Amino acid sequence: METRIYERGGDLLALEETAHMPYRWAMGLDSSKFFQEIAAREVLLGIRCHKCGKVYVPPRRLCGPCFVKIDELVELGSEGVIEAVTLVNYGFIDPDTGRQRPIPYYYGYIKLDGADNLFSHIIQTPPGQEVKVGDRVRAVFAEKKRGHILDISHFEPAPA
Ligand SMILES: [Zn+2]
Repeated sequence: METRIYERGGDLLALEETAHMPYRWAMGLDSSKFFQEIAAREVLLGIRCHKCGKVYVPPRRLCGPCFVKIDELVELGSEGVIEAVTLVNYGFIDPDTGRQRPIPYYYGYIKLDGADNLFSHIIQTPPGQEVKVGDRVRAVFAEKKRGHILDISHFEPAPA
């Protein structure tokens, strides 16, 4: 732990510490498989409800509308269609890096091929290129996989 004490004229102004707080978080069976398949084969998995047929991504244990346990994992395409998108011009601190993500960038809701719900992620475009609802995008995978949502580095416009 690093501690810094800032003083002015003998009065304590601030105490700044960086705490090391390691933790483990169980992703659950289906999320584990989701990230394992990305790491092993760069394949996105969904899960199908046997009652209504809807496919959810990322996989989950329960179909909300049917309120039944679901377990049929299905492979999805790594492309999809933008259903909603915004251009981000505010320099949020990226919780993964602790640094500001370069702006501007797009953030959107994508309906992946084969899925019935929307998957949200960063959409990067070449400088000056815009995206809009209805455009097709494809997943770009990180070179080094960590079992993290940023194993999908971002989405980018899909070639026509
Ligand atoms: Zn269902």
